[in-house]
Amino acid sequence: MSATIIDGKAIAARVRGEVADDVRAFAEQSGRAPGLATVLVGEDPASAVYVGGKQRACAEVGIRPFDERLPASASFDEVAELLRRLNDDPAVSGVLLQLPVPGHLDGPALTGLIDPLKDVDGLTPVNAGLLSLGRPGLRPCTPSGVMELLASAGARLEGAEAVVVGRSNLFGKPMAALLLEANATVTVCHSRTRDLREVCARADVLIAAVGRPRLVGREHVKPGAIVIDVGMNRLTPEEAGTASGLVGDVDFDAVRELAQAITPVPGGVGPMTIAMLLRNTLQAARSQADLAEAAPQQAGAR
Ligand code: NAP
Repeated sequence: MSATIIDGKAIAARVRGEVADDVRAFAEQSGRAPGLATVLVGEDPASAVYVGGKQRACAEVGIRPFDERLPASASFDEVAELLRRLNDDPAVSGVLLQLPVPGHLDGPALTGLIDPLKDVDGLTPVNAGLLSLGRPGLRPCTPSGVMELLASAGARLEGAEAVVVGRSNLFGKPMAALLLEANATVTVCHSRTRDLREVCARADVLIAAVGRPRLVGREHVKPGAIVIDVGMNRLTPEEAGTASGLVGDVDFDAVRELAQAITPVPGGVGPMTIAMLLRNTLQAARSQADLAEAAPQQAGAR
């Protein structure tokens, strides 16, 4: 068997098209386009590339981009002040603090200052709590993107054995919560898992988010499983054996021979993250518009 390749680029393009249509309708109705503010602290080249991609993607779907930058020397209070200003700006529907921030800053504490209604990365304690309680809220972009890929691949999650390798707050934990919400039986693995191979080989749906090139091999995969590779590891082209030098956490060539479906790296999970960020920004704008509409009515009812 050779696996179906899940085409993240095409699925992300479809999501972006849907968001563009919905943004147009929202702007016509509300008189204002949604706005997304990205906050970049410092000059890390990779972060600058990610932020540039997010800014361009916003413009393409009609979301107004706000490009906020602070020097690497910025203090906690300076970043906090900027986040508060963006929280208060009605033209800004979503606020994203690009991670990682420079070492002297506390990234999670700064993220926690973002208004949960504008937290389009879904990483504030409020949105993480809502997710774990199974209540509506803004969901983290990469795990939401994986759910979209699984739906496109026709994965039946109810009752399925799902294994997530990696337990980060950014990805592994919210991924597990979303799978649980979809009624999968979920196991989360990490660096202390006793027998990774044995646990992974039980999975109907195997999701790897570790940051170790080609950690997941043939021996980890049950024939017919759906395999999602979140890892993005940059090697030299010689080490990687690919022109881009980018490899995932899954040994793609070995695993594709026995999986039912698999995501490539690049072109699998990566493109979904920005698509879901755009969708979250629209969702945030809608919630804020609904609240603004409800507020005068509630005041009148008093
Ligand atoms: P992270 O915070 O470094 O977490 C890595 C996780 O992997 C940890 O839970 C760690 O366990 C676990 N781990 C490490 N070595 C292991 C091993 N040998 N066996 C089993 N588990 C092991 O990383 P992350 O932020 O979740 O990201 C993971 C990967 O996904 C990275 O390559 C990152 O670039 C990629 N990523 C891609 C996107 C995208 O848009 N495509 C988005 C997010 C992340 P412990 O908790 O025990 O240390």
